[in-house]
Amino acid sequence: ASGAPSLQRILRRPAEPGMALAQIETPALLVDLPALDRNIARLAAYVQSQSPGVRLRPHAKTHKSPDVARRQIAAGAVGVCCQTVGEAEAMAAAGIADILLSNQIAGAGKAARLAAIAGQSRLSVCVDDPAQVALLSEAALAAGVTIHILVELDVGGARCGVQSAEAARALAELVQSTPGLGFGGLQAYHGRAQHMRKPQERKAAIERAILLAGEAAAKIRAAGIACDTVTGAGTGSFEFEAASALYTELQCGSYVFMDADYARNERDDTTAMPRFEQALTVLTTVISTPLPDRAVCDAGLKAMSLDSGPPSLQLHPGLDYAGVSDEHSTLTMHAPATLRVGQAIHLVPGHCDPTVAMHDWIIVHDGKRVLDVWPVTRGW
Ligand code: PLP
Ligand code: MN
Repeated sequence: ASGAPSLQRILRRPAEPGMALAQIETPALLVDLPALDRNIARLAAYVQSQSPGVRLRPHAKTHKSPDVARRQIAAGAVGVCCQTVGEAEAMAAAGIADILLSNQIAGAGKAARLAAIAGQSRLSVCVDDPAQVALLSEAALAAGVTIHILVELDVGGARCGVQSAEAARALAELVQSTPGLGFGGLQAYHGRAQHMRKPQERKAAIERAILLAGEAAAKIRAAGIACDTVTGAGTGSFEFEAASALYTELQCGSYVFMDADYARNERDDTTAMPRFEQALTVLTTVISTPLPDRAVCDAGLKAMSLDSGPPSLQLHPGLDYAGVSDEHSTLTMHAPATLRVGQAIHLVPGHCDPTVAMHDWIIVHDGKRVLDVWPVTRGW
């Protein structure tokens, strides 16, 4: 009875509203709320003005946070995308009414969990194989629900998706004739286009995606099947899908936080494209200054993802990011001894989505004080 600490103790809130940022123990994940809200408002305003009628369905894998999802929906989003069944369960449990699992599933267990979600929220999921159709149908019938189905077409992302318009039509016909399922349209997301550095490269990649998705939609419609939804797009490319007159829905995720890697994409400043701010930081503390030009702080590979490059030190001019290990980052000081033990550093993560998934809480602030603490629904 004296042994294990309770789960509540392990998942204790790391901060309370009103606390000064200086009191937060590190490493910690922070979101600047005014910047987050500006990002949400900017994308919503862009879509409303440039392509009215195109729906926004932000990707919740970026934040895994019903609190962020609710702010996106309050700004006009129709619902969210999720990438895992666990994310979808968390969003449904929080009352998000319209969820797209922008991914395939395998296994009767996952299908049953999706059918359970479909009893609470409108639930759509992608397929690219008759085996998934059979699984989802069985689960939907057993639960007495309808699961909405999008056929995923590979439009250049080289990940999931059927490989031709003809294959998309065949799978759409199968879905249409399978009980428990409703055919909704096409998933046509081009992941590889998002981080192409030049706007012209991104434009060319999405032009090809529009061509392929348009062919598939036409074939499906020619078979007498309604193809109401064509969904895709991310933070790097959405201006092109939004203007396509084909895509009906945009799935941007990273725009809410904006990672350091997206900031390396080149912009075309002649367009009305919104500028998104880097709202997410990993707060870390200098724990050692063993040399005049070296500071070591307490956030490493277990507090942020470096898969898209190191974090940015743009908030701290005069420092270079020199190295990382599990629980440490090593910084080089241009001017010797500018940092002392105990000083706080804000790192802008290279890639937000996997960074968020390393944390249990998002500490929400206004640059001075803690405003709120939001749970990250990882581990669902
Ligand atoms: N849609 C799908 C299917 C994705 O996999 C992703 C991210 O990889 C997104 C949308 C969102 O992209 P981003 O975070 O670049 O806006
Ligand atoms: Mn990502």
